[in-house]
Amino acid sequence: MATQYKTLINGEMRHTDNWLDVLNPATEKVVGQVPACGAEELDSAVLAAREAFKKWKTSSFEERQAACLAISAAIKENAEELYRLLTSEQGKPHAQAKSEIFGAAGLAKAQSTLKLEDEIIEDSDSRLHRHRRVPVGVVGGIVPWNFPVSMAIQKIVPALMAGCTIVLKPSPFTPLTTLRIAELIADKVPAGTVNIITGEDSLGPLITGHPGIDKITFTGSTATGKKIMEGASDDLKRITLELGGNDASIVLPDADPKKVAEQLFWSSFMNAGQVCIAAKRVYIHEDIYDELSQAIADYAKNVVVGDGAEQGTGVGPIQNKKQYERVLELIKDAKDNGYKFLLGGDQDPSGSGYFVPLTILDNPPEDARIVAEEQFGPVMPLMKFKDEDEVIARANASEYGLAGAVWTSNPDKGVEIAEKLETGTVWINEFMHLSPFAPFGGHKHSGFGAEYGKEGLKEFTYPQVISIKRDNVPA
Ligand code: NAD
Repeated sequence: MATQYKTLINGEMRHTDNWLDVLNPATEKVVGQVPACGAEELDSAVLAAREAFKKWKTSSFEERQAACLAISAAIKENAEELYRLLTSEQGKPHAQAKSEIFGAAGLAKAQSTLKLEDEIIEDSDSRLHRHRRVPVGVVGGIVPWNFPVSMAIQKIVPALMAGCTIVLKPSPFTPLTTLRIAELIADKVPAGTVNIITGEDSLGPLITGHPGIDKITFTGSTATGKKIMEGASDDLKRITLELGGNDASIVLPDADPKKVAEQLFWSSFMNAGQVCIAAKRVYIHEDIYDELSQAIADYAKNVVVGDGAEQGTGVGPIQNKKQYERVLELIKDAKDNGYKFLLGGDQDPSGSGYFVPLTILDNPPEDARIVAEEQFGPVMPLMKFKDEDEVIARANASEYGLAGAVWTSNPDKGVEIAEKLETGTVWINEFMHLSPFAPFGGHKHSGFGAEYGKEGLKEFTYPQVISIKRDNVPA
């Protein structure tokens, strides 16, 4: 029988009578089961979080930091077990799972130093005007399946550091590692401060609409983000939405194809392309287009697609069947339209596992579905451009605005272009680097609000101003 994992509610590991199966996307076999929670379990978790909030909201910085450091240590000390489990449910190769696990431990440690100081607006003879940040209350955290552990930690830790308590729901596709972490931290954080419950997608709207929850922090698709915004409107919950992206990479003519080919490859294919900030559209200047596109395709030919648990695998399967079918559909659409492939394009969905061959397209048109839509799979459309203004306009024509990159031997030129891109982050000569201290968030359909850094912490608070009129004290 598959291992059964339990939810964390009020410091206790609990389960329901109904269980959900979790599949390994490389084998389509059940790797674990998790409780199928509904309204009743959610009510218990929210009640626990509300009770815990009464005390936690006045906890000291040191108490909050200790809880977050304990979470960081629990993850680090159990890293090997956790990364293997993560690969088995998510599909990513061991090396990438390892970096997610250690990354999450590092993030928890780094973010445990974050503090929102009071701001003195005026300190004069007549008035003391002080701005402080107050924790919003109970947070509902909803996370996707592509980076289940990082996403959980980047919601739990800042919530605790801000003085909030949290009820977190992992994706039904990837809840195992998060529940194992729940078990590891159950006696290391005060009961009720962190609650983790699992269920189908239908548990999401119950969280969004729950009157005992004050704020939703969500990472996932734009379509679900819109539903969350609607669901949260009834009682005006505060919301942070980290949604989809269709990031453009712009490669200028002065970039060295030999130096950038490998990095560009991984900027699109890391985690089988299932990264919100993956390069999903790559614009290459016509002067170096042929040489660079060939260099990327040559590099790709040596990357193995397979089970992430096997040594030598560079790219794992797509995480779930629905997404697998969507990626195959986009590739088929490109093929039916006669677009040229440098690699991939043929499909064989007959075997087990949701594997998609690495797919590189040669200069498809801007309105091709595979360019205009977020693929979220191992697909890289390469497009030619002639001049700077034209490529900036094409990059900005997307409905998304999450991130982007410029590759050039002239970083000043890179900055000039970066400042014209309508996205929350722009990298110059690197990709996917996020600092725990810099705000990360999107623009347009990529969402709003921020995670990481003090800006991220603020999202779990509301501003309170206390104004003392010093020269008007009643006698
Ligand atoms: P999804 O929107 O389908 O699911 C995300 C979470 O929302 C899951 O836990 C799911 O159970 C829950 N959910 C589903 N329906 C809901 C509803 N009606 N109300 C409330 N919750 C609901 O997204 P996904 O397919 O798991 O993830 C892929 C998407 O996430 C991609 O679009 C990707 O770009 C995006 N993403 C964004 C970021 C970012 O930081 N901007 C990071 C990672 C992934």
